[in-house]
Amino acid sequence: MQAIKRTKVIDVLRRTDYGATVNVKGWVRTRRGSKSVNFIALNDGSTIQNVQIVADVERFDEETLKQITTGACLSVNGELVKSPGAGQASEIQATEIEVLGTCGADFPMQKKGQTFEFMRQNAHMRLRTNTFGAVFRIRHNMAIAIHKYFHEHGFFYFHTPIITASDCEGAGQMFQVTTKNLYDLRKTDDGKIDYSDDFFGKQTSLTVSGQLEGELGATALGAIYTFGPTFRAENSNTPRHLAEFWMIEPEVAFNDITDNMDLAEDFIKYCVQWALDNCQDDLAFLNKMVDHSLLERLHFVVEHDFVRLTYTEGIRILEEAVKGGRKFEFPIYWGADLASEHERYLVEEHFKRPVILTDYPKEIKAFYMKMNDDGKTVRAMDVLFPQIGEIIGGSEREENYDKLMTRIEELHIPMKDMWWYLDTRRFGTCPHAGFGLGFERLILFVTGMQNIRDVIPFPRTPKSAEF
Ligand code: ATP
Ligand code: MN
Repeated sequence: MQAIKRTKVIDVLRRTDYGATVNVKGWVRTRRGSKSVNFIALNDGSTIQNVQIVADVERFDEETLKQITTGACLSVNGELVKSPGAGQASEIQATEIEVLGTCGADFPMQKKGQTFEFMRQNAHMRLRTNTFGAVFRIRHNMAIAIHKYFHEHGFFYFHTPIITASDCEGAGQMFQVTTKNLYDLRKTDDGKIDYSDDFFGKQTSLTVSGQLEGELGATALGAIYTFGPTFRAENSNTPRHLAEFWMIEPEVAFNDITDNMDLAEDFIKYCVQWALDNCQDDLAFLNKMVDHSLLERLHFVVEHDFVRLTYTEGIRILEEAVKGGRKFEFPIYWGADLASEHERYLVEEHFKRPVILTDYPKEIKAFYMKMNDDGKTVRAMDVLFPQIGEIIGGSEREENYDKLMTRIEELHIPMKDMWWYLDTRRFGTCPHAGFGLGFERLILFVTGMQNIRDVIPFPRTPKSAEF
């Protein structure tokens, strides 16, 4: 076969220099045809669009044509021609076809219309489908949008550790990191596990959040963000929780809760607008095949202000709803942690807009959140989105050393390994605020997918770590 430099499908479809000789490589999506001519839809992942290969049967031997089945990998040389059909501008009249990789009939993505559940069990091959191609191209674009937004706004990308020895945040839901022989654990005299001979000489885990180290960055560099993997061993088998997910955590010195809300709203709108501007083909596909109201919802979010109200006001609305006959699975009262159904009621039914809820009872929020003057609520903020519920959780931080210590003592938080965190409050403490955005929850929103397992290439959930 003649050696010709490869052109990506996305580029070949834009070319209009008809008559040129081109090479494309990719995987067969479909093949149809008659006795005299075959039409092969070829996709190389660069775009959701396929390029049509026209192969005159008489030019190719029977053996080659037989191997051109769905999923097979081809290299095609041919002439770029103007497509007579509607839709595509260009197609390729094949002169040479090499089958780089044949594909048997047991290719799991052969049939159309497989369930997402089936595709999840074949997550290694689902990447080859239109839907997952679209999702993961969008996922890439959102990562770019995030870095672009923060870079343009003077934030520094700050790397926080993945292995950590502080266990104050996610008590009980951390994955341990150890090189100890789990079948022969050395114990101390009082029966506890002795970590002194472990790799780090103490108990260590995978991080549940980069925030505490992020605060160190913010109180030195002014404004930072993290964007990295996070791990939570919470046994919550929901469509919105993963054991391994990616989180974006901006942290800003001198920001108060209002600045924090402004940042969250501006940031999320920027990301959604980025998708609308840069992922048109993939969004159009998802809007057609997965969720017909997707584009409408994305436009709605960028065009409308988020509603801002306090937790206390939110509870009042929910209690009114219950009085009016609305049924919820979980009880609602002042002090209760909102379940996803409550969050979605506020967003989807009551306000019909994204909602930022603030000033939660201190009992249901983390120790580092700044106490309000009422002594009962803290300056927390959750951003609640349609379809998703909580997409962002954040707060103004307690910068006062004594007040922070009081909370730590009230909650019996083990602080012996946290002296470095407390030092931020001892050496030039300052007001600051930040939040965490779950990357996959953003991707759920932007793609219209229903299950968080379908917006990360290889999901980790309870009892599932395949691939
Ligand atoms: P939820 O109540 O939904 O479990 P959370 O209150 O535990 O969330 P935070 O600790 O505030 O969440 O984390 C910040 C953000 O990280 C959340 O707003 C959410 O977008 C995301 N997030 C939290 N836990 C998970 C998870 N297990 N899988 C995916 N994303 C998550
Ligand atoms: Mn949680």
